Amino acid sequence: MSLIKSKTRGSLIVLSGPSGVGKDTVVSEYIKKYDNAWLSVSTTSRAMRPGDVEGEIYNFVTKEEFEKLIEEDYFLEYACYVDKYYGTPKKFINEKLAEGKDVFLVIEIQGAMKIKELIPEALFIFLLPPNLKTLRQRLKNRGTETKEKIIDRFKTAYREMNEVTKYNYVVINDELDETVKKINAILVSEKCRCDRIEELYLNNEEEYMHEMLLEDKEMPNKVIEVE
Ligand code: 5GP
Repeated sequence: MSLIKSKTRGSLIVLSGPSGVGKDTVVSEYIKKYDNAWLSVSTTSRAMRPGDVEGEIYNFVTKEEFEKLIEEDYFLEYACYVDKYYGTPKKFINEKLAEGKDVFLVIEIQGAMKIKELIPEALFIFLLPPNLKTLRQRLKNRGTETKEKIIDRFKTAYREMNEVTKYNYVVINDELDETVKKINAILVSEKCRCDRIEELYLNNEEEYMHEMLLEDKEMPNKVIEVE
């Protein structure tokens, strides 16, 4: 019998970081490794890029469809980023957390700060590149954007990195395996927080405590001989 019963509700993890830092790769690797995690699929009005699969990371809609969804109060948060809409649908999040799943929201900073207002107990993790040179190279290597778009994203990324202190944790994404391990370490320690204790059963152990004390009293006192 355990001495405590902890809350089984999952944790909500908000992961941000500059464009090109590798957030999606990190989360998909995390989910492959730890099956208790779930990624919230965002809705966006940006165009599909080569390699994008509908429903995997995003549901793709038009600007007009997105605006209709805003009116219908469909989103927990949404933001406009480099002229396109991105939003987190409300549905499923509560359900998944109640099932005990750890839910990842991979979102930019404006959206993350809205979540902070709504759900301050969420975990806010910021992913940084090892340096700017690596980030620029990663953005270029994606080969999915025009030169102008890359410059735009790079400028936004630079601005975003200054917001890192608004988060609870910062992880440098240098080596994928290490990054995934670090995120797991953050989540493991989160589960050990005292405010996750639902019940404490120490009082039930009183009887055992008495018995143990009596037993110890009856034991002959041994003298330990030191040579
Ligand atoms: P990308 O176009 O590179 O896929 O995403 C651009 C930015 O939008 C990234 O920082 C990404 O994390 C963020 N993003 C993706 N989904 C959401 C969302 O649902 N809400 C908000 N606020 N940002 C999102």
